[in-house]
Amino acid sequence: MLGRLADVLLPPVCIACRTRIWSHGPLCGACFAKIDFIAPPICARLGVPLPYDAGEPSLSAAAIAKPPVYDRAWAAARYSLTMRDLVQSFKYRDRHEGLPLFARWLVKAGAELLADADLIVPVPLYSSRLWWRRFNQSAMLAYGVARLSDVGVDCFVLRRVRRTASQVGLTADQRRRNVAGAFKVNPARAARVKGKRVVVIDDVITTGATAEASARALQRAGAARVDVLALARAVEPTSFVL
Ligand SMILES: [Zn+2]
Repeated sequence: MLGRLADVLLPPVCIACRTRIWSHGPLCGACFAKIDFIAPPICARLGVPLPYDAGEPSLSAAAIAKPPVYDRAWAAARYSLTMRDLVQSFKYRDRHEGLPLFARWLVKAGAELLADADLIVPVPLYSSRLWWRRFNQSAMLAYGVARLSDVGVDCFVLRRVRRTASQVGLTADQRRRNVAGAFKVNPARAARVKGKRVVVIDDVITTGATAEASARALQRAGAARVDVLALARAVEPTSFVL
């Protein structure tokens, strides 16, 4: 009753394109149809789609040429224009209605990573940025995933120890330098990581620089395995500037 009253006063709009929606759920049908979910066969390390199914875990050429620091980084969907709109409205416009949906997408895409994980850890923001943005979208996603997956979450394990410039518009090399050494494991929480299988939650993986910097910090603290799970992953060819 109250929900229906709220709908009349504040008609629900799509969280991606902001047109009025009549159906149940935070996304309009047109935007949902435009989401390019990543489905097997995928590269076992980088999580990018592979052209054919070899019937066993396979690696992409990129993962063989330059193996990533983390063990696996999988994502729910390609970072398309619609996914960018979704993530930006979640991140910058405080549109959180999509959270339960995003958590379900993450749990589905990361079922294998979460199956034997010990701990979920969000990619942290630097504290002044956290203040500015008032919340950490990755922490919200991490709590959402933990609720659906029976894996514990700790938002205070990984810390961003220095402020980093926004990654937007930087090349892969600049991104790597920008976040190198930006993360540290909180010494008071190091015991929670040592010998454990950790899943890092992020919103978007573009070049993987943040994922690698987070993984390196967790590995230094003795994590047995570090996987990364994200809502979206940039998959070449990208038709727009990330
Ligand atoms: Zn829409």
